[in-house]
Order: sequence, then C-alpha cells, then structure tokens
Amino acid sequence: MSSADDPNPYLDNPASELPLNFPKPSLSRKNPLYEYDPTIHAPEIEPIEHRIRYDFAKAGLTMKMSLLESYSPYNNDSSSEDPWANSGDLNPKPEALKNAEFSIQDRLEYEEHLFENWDDDSVIEKAPGYLAHRFREIRDSDNPEEGVQNERANRTYWYEQMPWSNLYALFTKDSSLGDLYPSSHRQYSDTGKPVDEAHNKHTNYFEGAILVDNNSDPEKVAEDFDVDPDHVYREEEFNYTHKGDALVRPDEYIEAFPAPVVIGHYANDSEYVLLPWTGGLTCQCHYKHEKPFRVMCKHEAMASMLAGEHGSEYLPLTEGIDVPDRVRRLYDPLAIDWTS
Ligand SMILES: [Zn+2]
Repeated sequence: MSSADDPNPYLDNPASELPLNFPKPSLSRKNPLYEYDPTIHAPEIEPIEHRIRYDFAKAGLTMKMSLLESYSPYNNDSSSEDPWANSGDLNPKPEALKNAEFSIQDRLEYEEHLFENWDDDSVIEKAPGYLAHRFREIRDSDNPEEGVQNERANRTYWYEQMPWSNLYALFTKDSSLGDLYPSSHRQYSDTGKPVDEAHNKHTNYFEGAILVDNNSDPEKVAEDFDVDPDHVYREEEFNYTHKGDALVRPDEYIEAFPAPVVIGHYANDSEYVLLPWTGGLTCQCHYKHEKPFRVMCKHEAMASMLAGEHGSEYLPLTEGIDVPDRVRRLYDPLAIDWTS
C-alpha cells in the first residue's frame, strides 16, 4: 500500500507549500526523532490500534446487512455468546471484526513474551509507551512481582474486552456505523457495490484543510497559501466544548499553526478533525476519548474501511486542499507487524 503519485484531481494546491510542524509524539515510533512521555502526552495509538485499522481497511466497507439491530456494550462480555453466532448468510459477521479479533489474540500472545521478560531493558524498549512506563514504575516499586502480575491481568482484560466493550458496539444499525450509512431518505443498496454511496459529498467524505490559531485571519492565511478560504478554519471551530470534556481540542495535539489537517465529514452531519498522533491519526470525538478502553470510534472505523476500499492507509480526500501525506495517514504500516 502506498500513496498515489498522481495529483488528486479533486484538490487544488500542492501539498509541499504547506507547513508541517507536528510535535515529536506525532511521528512513527520507528522514526529516530520520535519522543513520547506518557506522563505528559496523550495516549499513544498502540500497535493493536494501528493493526485494527489495518484489519478494517483490509476488509473494506462492511455491508449494511451485517450490522446488528442493536448491541449493548454494558450487558455483554467475553463470556457472552457472539452476537453474530446465529445470524446466518443474510447477516454475516463483518470481516473487519473477524480480522481484528484474530489480531487481538495474536497481540495478546506476543505480549506474553514481554511480560515473561519484563525486567529487561530491550523488552521494555519494545513495549508500547504506556506499558513501558508501567514496567519502569513497577521496577522501582516495593513489590515488583505483584505489580507485574496485576499489570498483566489488567492488560489481558483490556484486550479481551476490546471487541465486547467497543468494537461490536460500532457495528449496529441503531447507532454507531448505522448513523454513517445512508439512511432511509437516501438510496442505499445492500447488495450492490456500496462504496460510492457511503463515500460522497452527501454522506461521508474527507476534506484537506488548514487550521489556524484563533487570533489569525483565515482570509489572510488563505491568501498567503493561495488557497480557497473555505478550507481555512480557526482552531476554535473544532473546540466543541458543548460536547463535553472528553473531546480533544486540536491544540492538544498540534503545537504550531497554521497546520494542514484532514477534516472528516460524516453522514450524520458531524465534523471532526483527524489529528496526527504517534504514526497515525486520532479522531477528536467525545466517544473515542471518554473511556480508555475505546480503541476506535465509528468515524475511525468508517475512515479505515474507506481507506481500505481505496487500497491504502491514506485517507482519500475529495474536497479542499492537497495536504502532506503524513496528515492523511490513518495508521502506521510499520506498527502493524509486531514481530518485525
Ligand atoms: Zn470519532
């Protein structure tokens, strides 16, 4: 998978003219300049999260008929029956979920190795940022054996709950992805090729844009970069304080403005910035950041599947400004294979 070399016919400005000043935690973990401190920075996009996006992309857009009528993440756990267990051919379990569940097990097995050798600097080095931080804390604690056992139990629970507390709940007709599929007032075919219907200016699409700080004049910045002012936004337009504290503001992830970004526009009329972070992008929405066990929101799920339909880890832009590739890279391909 790679970025297209040809200019995007929908967009009107060369990406090379836009500034790219992201903080060091925005880089890939494999980049030598990457620097991350879990005590001050927002949570990393963990390897399993990059992988789940890849898994969803590989599967492509899920057919609407595979969505559940409804699902409660609060009344189900890993001891419950698979909600698609009796669904049959008309309502098959989404490939995206099958891929993700396989990866979750695989990652869990890989981390067994980390836990068995946790007190080794080279192992700590390989662990995701949060886990590496915990290993260091535990090493300095009074009872490291108990500490590492507790951490292992918590980590296992986190992985095992992922489908039940988060991923399954995305695949419902009554909310989540169901909100992002064209609803009854729009034509939608369950059996035809659905991509064009789920990815257009009336449903879900991605806009390349420039964010400026709240004291800047968007018209002036548009003139400086010779772009349409319709695609230049003040950061405060995405503050959304009325949506609750969990939602992240762009300036929590972006150090310097003006900054090129991708804005996701969704079929339920919501609009969120996808913020560059630890090798990929994170949606700023409230749902995603409200609970630590939520590794994906419906916007990231839809974005992953649409990126996959376009054969790439890069978000397909159909509106706005041609932003640098890093700004539209949804997941880090170097993070999806943890054995390398
Ligand atoms: Zn979201």
